[in-house]
Amino acid sequence: MGEITTKLLVLGGGPGGYVAAIRAGQHGIDTVLVEENRLGGTCLNVGCIPSKAMIHAAEAFHAAVLQSEDASPFGLSAGPPKLDFTRTVAWKDGIVGRLNTGVASLLKRGGVKILRGRGTMVDGKTCLVETDTGPERVRAEHVILATGSVPAALPHLPFGGRVISSTEALSLAKVPATMAVVGAGYIGLELGTAFAKLGAKVTVVEMAERILPAYDAELTRPVARRLGALGIEVLLGAKATGLSGDGLSGDGLAVDVGGEPRTIPAEVILVAVGRKARTHDFGLDRLDLDMSGPFLRIDERCATSMRNVWAVGDVTGEPMLAHRAMAQGEMVADLVAGRRRAFHKVAIPAVCFTDPEVVSAGLSPEEARAAGHEIRTGLFPFAANGRAMTLGAEDGFVRVTARADNHLLLGIQAVGAGVSELAAGFGLALEMGARLEDVAGTIHAHPTLGEAFHEANLRALGEALHI
Ligand code: FAD
Repeated sequence: MGEITTKLLVLGGGPGGYVAAIRAGQHGIDTVLVEENRLGGTCLNVGCIPSKAMIHAAEAFHAAVLQSEDASPFGLSAGPPKLDFTRTVAWKDGIVGRLNTGVASLLKRGGVKILRGRGTMVDGKTCLVETDTGPERVRAEHVILATGSVPAALPHLPFGGRVISSTEALSLAKVPATMAVVGAGYIGLELGTAFAKLGAKVTVVEMAERILPAYDAELTRPVARRLGALGIEVLLGAKATGLSGDGLSGDGLAVDVGGEPRTIPAEVILVAVGRKARTHDFGLDRLDLDMSGPFLRIDERCATSMRNVWAVGDVTGEPMLAHRAMAQGEMVADLVAGRRRAFHKVAIPAVCFTDPEVVSAGLSPEEARAAGHEIRTGLFPFAANGRAMTLGAEDGFVRVTARADNHLLLGIQAVGAGVSELAAGFGLALEMGARLEDVAGTIHAHPTLGEAFHEANLRALGEALHI
């Protein structure tokens, strides 16, 4: 058995782990990164990146279909488009492949040693890695656990056959004629919308009384309207109870909608009911780690209950987002290098790449009130924004929430086409402790969607110009 001694061992090469390893390498820390699959983790291989590629391709195809039906709002018309889905998937895989190579070369540049294989923790300083060329024992002064998460399964709809997770949905051989999506969270709606635009008849089944239950109702309404316009049926207060037919060859999903049994057509059933922290199957039970529910318990420095054992990313809980994992990974590498850091983020923006997109940073008005704040809010609709009109995308708004006394911004939300690109400005405003007057006094370029952010702040001050 090979033996490696290093200063830092990073277990898991997703956004949390690989960013920690790159930063550690930049600090000159002797680092070993263990990854059993492809570098980049869920995000790069079966999450953020491939899903956004599919969403973009689906949007382009849908626009072409509208043109062929002479239904384009811009007066464009064209012949019927053809979809070569194999090439669509290959294009998506090409992007993933380029980014995989990019991550590998960044790690190499930082002098990080990459060990390919499953790592199993033996104790808080030792990991056994099953590589292709035999087992390696890695001993490290510091360990970062960055093992991420896996799709959560439903006991009565286990994965297999036509019951798939987001991972398989991103590599289907063809666009199914019918698709049931169980779960109207962001992953289910992003992928369901993409497949509907590619031609599938999509039905969404959601137990809650509205879509995107993690977001406030006002924010989700434009998305609900658009789902309807795209012909996606959404069954709310509905529970998927099992497969109809013989399970493998049948083509339906049994659903209980408010006590009424119903069967919906489903050549493919995408179960998107959340993700489960990966804390099993690699020896964590041998360690003395405190848990916080299903997640590893960490403090504001991402330290676990064991000395020199750190944890970052999805394995540490919500929000399970790539940029949070990266920020944590970067911070822990700095800490190992002896810098003083803590993870006290005012806002970790969350984006749903639905149609239209949704962004939330900081507190919603309800959350702000629940936290005991007296607030003032300002909402500016895209229907009054020139750029949104030129894009043919007027449904949506930007909404700000600030403290009533000193006008400190507490939260910013938006729904609308392309608002994901506004998230950076929202996060910056919150982290910098901006007040309504700060954003109101900042010149925003015209004509841009960002002007709606400017106007929302003006409106909260009772001084909106364009409404
Ligand atoms: P992961 O990315 O899950 O990486 C963990 C890595 O550890 C994996 O590569 C795994 O193989 C490896 N590993 C685990 N155990 C071991 C072991 N014992 N030995 C060796 N290797 C091991 N987030 C966003 O911010 N924006 C989005 O738009 C977005 N879209 C998404 C779309 C989909 C369809 C999905 C599924 C997720 C999406 N996410 C998005 C969430 C995002 O992918 C995760 O939050 C992020 O990947 C978490 O990073 P991580 O490093 O904690 O874990």
